[in-house]
Order: sequence, then C-alpha cells, then structure tokens
Amino acid sequence: MSVQISESNLNISNPVTGEYISSIPITTNQELQIILDKAVFAAKTYNYSSFSKRKQLLKQFRRGIVKYLDDFIKIIISETGKKEVESLMEIFISLEHLQQSSKNLYNALGKDVRKVGILKTKKAWVEYEALGVAGIISPWNYPLILTMCPMIEALLAGNTVVLKPSEHTPLTTQLLKRVWDEFTKEEALFQVAYGQEEVGSTLVKSNKTDIICFTGSTAVGKKIAEVCAPLFKPVILELGGKDPMIILEDADLDKSVEAALWGGLSNAGQTCISIEQIYVHKNIYKPIVEKLSNSIKKISAGPGNKHLGPISVDLIKKKINNYILEAKKESEVIQGGGDEGCFIPPTLVINPPLHLKLLKEEIFGPVMTIHPFQDEEEVITLANMTGYGLSASIFGKNYNQIYSISRRIKAGTVTINDVLTHYGIADLPFGGIGLSGIGKVHGREGLRAFSQQKSYLSNRISLKSEFWWFKNRDKFGKFLKKWIRWNFS
Ligand code: NAD
Repeated sequence: MSVQISESNLNISNPVTGEYISSIPITTNQELQIILDKAVFAAKTYNYSSFSKRKQLLKQFRRGIVKYLDDFIKIIISETGKKEVESLMEIFISLEHLQQSSKNLYNALGKDVRKVGILKTKKAWVEYEALGVAGIISPWNYPLILTMCPMIEALLAGNTVVLKPSEHTPLTTQLLKRVWDEFTKEEALFQVAYGQEEVGSTLVKSNKTDIICFTGSTAVGKKIAEVCAPLFKPVILELGGKDPMIILEDADLDKSVEAALWGGLSNAGQTCISIEQIYVHKNIYKPIVEKLSNSIKKISAGPGNKHLGPISVDLIKKKINNYILEAKKESEVIQGGGDEGCFIPPTLVINPPLHLKLLKEEIFGPVMTIHPFQDEEEVITLANMTGYGLSASIFGKNYNQIYSISRRIKAGTVTINDVLTHYGIADLPFGGIGLSGIGKVHGREGLRAFSQQKSYLSNRISLKSEFWWFKNRDKFGKFLKKWIRWNFS
C-alpha cells in the first residue's frame, strides 16, 4: 500500500519498492477554514483580473514546471510506480493543456455579442465572469494531469483554487504548489488541503466554495452531487468509465490489436478511458482473438523495463483479482506475465457470460473482455449496456457505418481508429454521460464551466421612452397585432 494514514499524517511509500518517501500533515478543519478565508479574500480582486494577468501567471508557472521537470518525473514515479515514459506523458499533457488553454482564453471567455432580433436599438452580449472560489478534488491515477488541468481552467476563468489531491498521491501536488508559489508569488490564488474524505467533504459543503470540480469514482461522485444539489452549487463530475472498443468487419486487424493493447493496458489499465470491453465482428473474431492472445502473452507487469507498472492502490488490486477469479470460473482467460506483489498480469477474458460483475462494473486494471457481435444493432446494445458513458472507440474503414454506430453510442467522446488520444487534445471538451458524470472540462466548454455566464443588455440608440412602456401602450398594441400577422405568418 502506498499510503499509511495516521491520525495527523499521510505517510507515503513507493508502491513498487515499499520504500518510505515522505509524510504530509493532514489539513485540520481549522487550517482548512483559514485556507478558504484566504481564497475568498484573494478572489475579491483576482475574480476581476485581466486575461493578460492570468495568462502571465500561468506562463510563469509553466516555466517553473519545466525547470523542475526532473523532480516531477521522480516524484510521479515514486508515489505511483509508473514507468518513466508514462510519467513524461503526464507532464507533457499537463503542459500542453496549460499552453493551449491559455491560447484559448479570449476565444472562450471574451465578450460574446448576441443577435438582438427586431430590437435594433439594443445591443446584447454575454460575459464569462469568475464564479469565486473553485474547490477541486482529484484521484490518484494521474496525480499531475488531474490536478493541473482543472486547476488551470479554474484559474484562467478567474477563480481562486483550493485543491484536495488524493490521499494516495499528495506529493506531486505538494511539488506543484511549491513551484506555483516560487514562480508566481501569488500564494493565495492556489492553495492545497491534504487528507481523505473528511477534507474533501468539507470543501464540498463549505459556503466559501462556489463550484466543485470532482474527478474520481462514480460512488463518491454521487455523494458529492447529493451535497451540491440542495445548495444549488455548480458541480463538474468526471467519474468512472467502462469504455467499449468496436472492431468492424473491414477494420485493419493488426492496428486494431495494437490499439486494444495500448488502450487497455497502458498505465496498467488505471485510466478512466481505458478499453475494458472489446466487441469484434463475428467474421474477424477468431483472428483478432488469436492475435490479441498471442500479444498479451508476450507482455509482462513488473519493475524495471517490464511493460506494465503496478496497481498503485492495494485495495483496488484485490478488487481486480476478484474480477479475474470470477472470470476464470466461467470463461477462458489469457494472461501475460506478472511479478508478485503489486503487479497484475495483462488479462484477456474471452467471451464471458454477460451476467459477470466484470462486465457491469469498472475494473480499473489491465483486464479486457472480448465478445463477437453479429450486426450493428447487437453491438450498439452491448456497448451501451453498462450505464457508463465516458468514451468509446470504433475501428473500421466504412465511415458511413462508423458514423451510423457512433451517433447511437452513449458516450461523451467517440474516437475513430484511435484510442485514448482525445484526452491529449486540450481544445476538445472532455466528460461523460450517465454514470460517467456531468459537465465538461477542457476546451472552451471547460473554461466556461468554471464561469458564470452573465447576459448584458444596453442601448445602441437611447430613446426617452421605449415603445412598449405604459405611455405608448395603445399605439404599441395596435402595431404589435399587425406585426405578428405580417412577420410570423
Ligand atoms: P475516489 O472517488 O475514491 O476518490 C477521489 C477523491 O475524492 C480523493 O481525493 C478522495 O479523497 C476524495 N473523496 C472521497 N470521498 C469523498 C467525499 N465524500 N467527499 C469529497 N471527497 C471525497 O476515486 P479514486 O480511487 O481516487 O480514483 C479512481 C476513480 O476515478 C476511477 O473510478 C476512475 O475512473 C475515476 N477517474 C475519472 C476520470 C475522468 O476524467 N472521468 C479521470 C481519472 C479517474
């Protein structure tokens, strides 16, 4: 287990070596109230700051992260056990997001002029104003991306931020905070609270937070939605996934197999948009199963230069092993290599019966199921059966068929002949439907989600009295009747 929690500390160890790394004091309720008060006070000016000031701050922050690049690589690896290239991918995506979102700022949040219809003497527009203080709660599987991306969007939209990282991976955020303070000198704009459920829950309930952005499990997301609903507090919920991959009859077999391996096994399957279920057209099912099985047998999980890293959280490892045990009782299971300890071998479950739990719940490990399908109707039903709706992917050559399926797939994103890459495109909104959550991050939509969309109306030509006010009522009534008949018939 990577974290041992005492009464007042999170004690973090490397999940692979078990070596103790460092401890972080849990933020007390009293300290959290001080943090929140500071955030509210700082918001009074930062909420109204210029776009150029916000961009400038984030540019300084970006340069700071690059300066501490080696420290970020080291800390992500030590608290998650990820491979170096996986840690670099996290840093790359976070920085790319920072840069692209900053470029997008005017486009997303600039004054947005609207049409006035017949009211030609008027002008109307929308402004995107900060909400106040953003409370952000993050999971452990991507400790940099999933803290930095919402934080950047909240700050660019003019909010101050109080962030609670996962208790399993607080060290990456601790470094992030150090870099923020050193390079921006704006300590109050981005603050961190450490701890477990209680700290997160206080952040959600507090009347000092004006929006909550939660990334984590569907079960906790539901609890957060229940707290926010009666408070009418805006909430973005980025929750679990159970992404299907559909391989059509005309798909490139080798590419589909490679993509399934990457989509299902990278980061040892601990990705919300991991491929968990594969559906293959019956005419190519046999060769795909054969190729995928042969490839999986050559992949191993373990330390050093083995392909897959560990399952970072012990409790989740137990859950995944139970899914595999359940699958072995009722279906054929193909596995690659896996060292003892925190590792799970890459696993392919062949055509399991649909009643198994591993087909209904998010696995969050290096395990995929594979089934044949007869036709479009059947594959759409199978792909939509879990209630999750984060992403889906379709492989094939006939784009008419691909679009006809993609429109009926319940998912926030569909990728065509690719997997996972959509998360790296900062301008593409990201978020699920159904059990996968509510709201979007990334792109214009993400920046707007952290904003209050305020509508404005003013006069282009200022008249002494409007035509429809009491004074002109009789004349106006006659005119309106004629106008309705003429204009709308
Ligand atoms: P989790 O829900 O257990 O915890 C997430 C965070 O919520 C942690 O910081 C935790 O301390 C905090 N928390 C727990 N109970 C809380 C409460 N009652 N109130 C407030 N905060 C509370 O999730 P996890 O195990 O850290 O992460 C894995 C899950 O996250 C998976 O389901 C995965 O699919 C999902 N995830 C989703 C996305 C996405 O963008 N959709 C991205 C990454 C991970």
